[in-house]
Amino acid sequence: MVPVGVESVASGPVPGEAPSRALPAAPASLSPSRAGDFMQCPLLYRFRVIDRLPEKPSEAATRGTLVHAVLERLFDAPAGERTAPAAKSLIPGQWDRLRESRPEVVELFADDPEGERLARWLGEAERLVERWFTLEDPTRLEPAERELFVETRLESGLTLRGIIDRVDVAPTGEVRIVDYKTGKAPRPEYAEGALFQMKFYALVVWRLKNVIPRRLQLVYLGSGDVLTYDPVLADLERVERKLLALWEAIRQATETGDWRPRPTKLCGWCDHQEHCPEFGGTPPPYPLPVRAAGSAADAQGRMGPD
Ligand code: SF4
Repeated sequence: MVPVGVESVASGPVPGEAPSRALPAAPASLSPSRAGDFMQCPLLYRFRVIDRLPEKPSEAATRGTLVHAVLERLFDAPAGERTAPAAKSLIPGQWDRLRESRPEVVELFADDPEGERLARWLGEAERLVERWFTLEDPTRLEPAERELFVETRLESGLTLRGIIDRVDVAPTGEVRIVDYKTGKAPRPEYAEGALFQMKFYALVVWRLKNVIPRRLQLVYLGSGDVLTYDPVLADLERVERKLLALWEAIRQATETGDWRPRPTKLCGWCDHQEHCPEFGGTPPPYPLPVRAAGSAADAQGRMGPD
């Protein structure tokens, strides 16, 4: 049995293998993003969490990060001043901050000396921010939390963690969990997949506070839709069972090295086609070369907005 360690730090040589290689430890934690990766494609999960292959920033994900930052910061202002023009005026400053904290995003516009593409991109961020005001009224909201990091350890030993965009608490104590999406709402038949992340957060909040959130709310700025769901205990128990099954599947893949590619139309957005057998590529060797314990960074955290 492979020991379950913190994240994916190499755990030592495997008998019979060359001493310079070792199986990685299975992860001790899951975030909605990483759980989603494994469900989408086990090989994608491996590339991101085990191999830690670099990924290029994308315009869409970076715009999402920018818009999230603007919506978060807008609540610093008194309620009456949370207007669309005030929100849009935050964009340049938040873009500067983003470039400082993540210099790699500057590459996105390296081939745009006149700044035309950047101007269009910023204009699209403005439109997304404006659309939010048609869906929610921030002058009537007083979030209990914004960009809330949550983490809980289940009895099984699995740690769940994530970042919730906004938590509202009604005077009656009822909790609403809100997540902003800068893309479009899924078709109804795919709504369950979109709600998985929200049920994950609801499970964490329930385990942490012993309170079942009254409402889960996805705000789609790309299409101007709001998707809501009122969870019940059975939903949270179901998602917990699903996560434990997923964790077990990840442990098995870690042990056997069977990280199967699962090609879908989402492959078009995958940065790792050159390493993927489905596209004629070759994955890095597995087990991995031994690394010094503690040399690996946390790969379970957020990778851009979900
Ligand atoms: S290209 Fe598709 S099948 Fe290959 S790793 Fe990426 S998501 Fe998986």
